[in-house]
Amino acid sequence: MDVAVLGAGIVGSSVAAHLAMRGVRTALIDRREPGRETSFGNAGLIEPSGVVPLGFPRDPAVLVKAVLGTLPQVNLHLSALPALAPFLWRYWRQSSQAGRRRSAAALFPLLSRAVAAHRELLDKAGAGHLLHPTGFYRLYRSPRTFEHHFAFESQVEASYGFSYQIMSPDEVAAREPAIRPVYHKAVWWKDSVAVRSPGEAVTAIAGLAARQGAALLRGDARTLSRSGGGFRVETAEGEVEADTVVVALGPWSTDLTEQFGLRLPFAVKRGYHMHFEPGGGAMLTTPLVDIDGGYFLAPMPRGLRLTTGVEFARRDAPPTPVQIARTRPMASELVPLGAALDPEPWLGRRPCLPDSLPVIGRLKRAENVVLAFGHQHLGLTMGPITGRLVADIITGAAPVVDPEPYRPERFA
Ligand SMILES: Cc1cc2nc3c(=O)[nH]c(=O)nc-3n(C[C@H](O)[C@H](O)[C@H](O)COP(=O)(O)OP(=O)(O)OC[C@H]3O[C@@H](n4cnc5c(N)ncnc54)[C@H](O)[C@@H]3O)c2cc1C
Repeated sequence: MDVAVLGAGIVGSSVAAHLAMRGVRTALIDRREPGRETSFGNAGLIEPSGVVPLGFPRDPAVLVKAVLGTLPQVNLHLSALPALAPFLWRYWRQSSQAGRRRSAAALFPLLSRAVAAHRELLDKAGAGHLLHPTGFYRLYRSPRTFEHHFAFESQVEASYGFSYQIMSPDEVAAREPAIRPVYHKAVWWKDSVAVRSPGEAVTAIAGLAARQGAALLRGDARTLSRSGGGFRVETAEGEVEADTVVVALGPWSTDLTEQFGLRLPFAVKRGYHMHFEPGGGAMLTTPLVDIDGGYFLAPMPRGLRLTTGVEFARRDAPPTPVQIARTRPMASELVPLGAALDPEPWLGRRPCLPDSLPVIGRLKRAENVVLAFGHQHLGLTMGPITGRLVADIITGAAPVVDPEPYRPERFA
């Protein structure tokens, strides 16, 4: 093979599809079926306007509540603090308004191309029907939160030209009878596109890669070893040799990067989902985030998917889905929810760097290793455009966006 892509989430599958479409001999290797991990259970929103990354809370009152476990938005495993401290310290420093503006400027080139990049791959894969250009609502229960959010996040997002409309609860109800008027105001961000069934979208993109000639293989990326000038990986179908390797293992990527001598201030922000039967007569058609309530609600083929905010914990610690219990009553008040449809909550892990930018590019000390991970809360959004950028880097084409802000060694 020319290239072995390790990890078949939205990022790795998109890399493999772009490489295969250019005639590069590609193996896409995962220990599971494509798109069964983080890319499976997210909220399904392609959110180009989400340029301002979520910041670490700086208000001491909010921090105290987070430690006491009384916030719906955040859950913290105190026992994980020593391990998370190097990440949290840098994340806290990057969370100033100036830091978040810098990250916004660096994310914009990827985010502004995200919808077109999804369309290109999903149309070619025959799965364009998964895309629903509904936009999404941000709902604010309290006037204070609305004003606070509008003074910075929304204002920066609007300055990039994304379109939005401030709406009263009655105006929203006229479009979406399922949403009850139990809040102060909504902002409808219109450029976002909902993916109904993100796992299916990844399956389709991996299928496109296969139709273009990529080999889809089962194997453990941790068996990677040097072989001559290239690499060897063990798979269920036998050993694969490749000149170049792409690390696209999402939250598991650092299992491999440390063997190349790269230490990153990396952490995961865990999150859960649970599906509910629609409780009232009307079905929600536009996804929404309840900013004060700390959850996201999205219509999916299985029902209404409630996803939670951030849990700071060790990646592999046992699940503690307390945020589902904390947010469910508020979600039911807003949109009638019926019975829970999953036997237990799904747990996912958002792969994060402190500046909320992904790591994309060749390793300086091992040029035939390309990294593509760390897409934080927006990995579904940025997966396909990352795939194109990585294919540009590997084939030597003019890069679709300047990869400089995402270079792997930026924390050294
Ligand atoms: C609750 C929640 C809601 C979210 N909502 C959104 C949203 O609305 N919009 C958005 O853009 N993003 C959202 N995200 C973020 C997004 O889901 C992630 O950023 C994205 O899925 C990461 O994709 P990935 O391909 O890097 O990782 P993954 O999808 O995790 O893929 C990594 C792959 O590597 C494989 N792997 C791991 N270890 C090995 C190994 N040793 N050998 C072989 N294979 C291995 C795994 O099986 C997996 O298939 C959300 C995340 C969560 C948790």
